[in-house]
Amino acid sequence: MKFVDEATIDVASGDGGNGCVAFRHEKYKEFGGPSGGDGGRGGHVYAVADPNLNTLVDYRYARRYEAKRGEHGMGSDMFGAAGADITLRMPVGTVISDADTGEQLFELLVPGEAVMIAKGGDGGFGNLRFKSAINRAPRQKTPGWPGEKKHLKLELKVLADVGLLGMPNAGKSTLISAVSNARPRIADYPFTTLHPNLGVVRVGPEQSFVVADLPGLIEGASEGAGLGHLFLRHLQRTRLLLHVVDLAPFDEGVDPVAQARAIVNELKKYDAALYRKPRWLVLNKLDMIAPSERAARVKDFVRRLRFKGPVFEISALTREGCEPLVQAVYQHVHAEKSAELQLAPVDPRFADASDA
Ligand code: GDP
Ligand code: MG
Repeated sequence: MKFVDEATIDVASGDGGNGCVAFRHEKYKEFGGPSGGDGGRGGHVYAVADPNLNTLVDYRYARRYEAKRGEHGMGSDMFGAAGADITLRMPVGTVISDADTGEQLFELLVPGEAVMIAKGGDGGFGNLRFKSAINRAPRQKTPGWPGEKKHLKLELKVLADVGLLGMPNAGKSTLISAVSNARPRIADYPFTTLHPNLGVVRVGPEQSFVVADLPGLIEGASEGAGLGHLFLRHLQRTRLLLHVVDLAPFDEGVDPVAQARAIVNELKKYDAALYRKPRWLVLNKLDMIAPSERAARVKDFVRRLRFKGPVFEISALTREGCEPLVQAVYQHVHAEKSAELQLAPVDPRFADASDA
């Protein structure tokens, strides 16, 4: 099956209904006065992030979405009814852009998040509105405002389930390429990875998770560069952080415990929500430590760091210990995702919208 992650659609919100010119006709009253009501507002078009969806495939088949126009105003002071709104459900991670200019308009990253992608036109005024001391029998009215027509491109962005954290040279890129389909640049000098690197880790035929190398988070933050609001929104979707530590630094003066603390402090300063995410320790480069010394080195490190969570011992280079790590990560991510689907916190306003 082809993975569909792109579609182009046309949406149109409803035009507003026209205002109405009418007069009251009462039997013994010569001038009944104006009674034309306003037109109703046209229907809006919304997009909502639905965590139960995984693809944009539906939008490849049905490409046009039009909300109803507002009804025209009527006599006897009657206002036209508003056109019904429509709601388009899209997977979390959908990016909505103007298909003609390429300009990005919206990004749906939070389950249940809703955005108005086309605003319904307002209704026109009926002659009731134009009544004044000077003009008691106005014949003015205004037409409804037109709705909006948009040619939109939808793209599904892959969002990371797991973020890798750690000092430059800890072995994050090496770990990603050991366990996933991504082939990041690996080098002996820091700052190799300038953009988050995504890799899909396949655990079984239908089982996978997405891991992102996020060294820039810490490096950028400590230089005051920061990665911006949008990038943080992407990280919101991560369910787990793996803190990769070089347990056998080449420079013997470097204390891995101090390095690990620095990373955790930066994380705390940088973003409270990320800091609260579950964080596991991945002690790397175990191949550089004599087998007889490993247990003691690991124990000493964990004790001095006062780390309470899960600890994994690996060598990203030889791949020793990588398989149990990947399995545990998958179990965690899968459990979190299932729990999230049970909750499915869709905005209550759109909870039973079944159109589109
Ligand atoms: P990053 O900056 O955290 O992405 O680190 P890299 O993955 O680029 O690795 C930095 C250096 O450490 C590279 O020379 C890697 O080959 C080396 N390296 C990474 N993992 C291991 C490992 O498990 N054992 C050994 N001996 N070297 C490793
Ligand atoms: Mg790297």
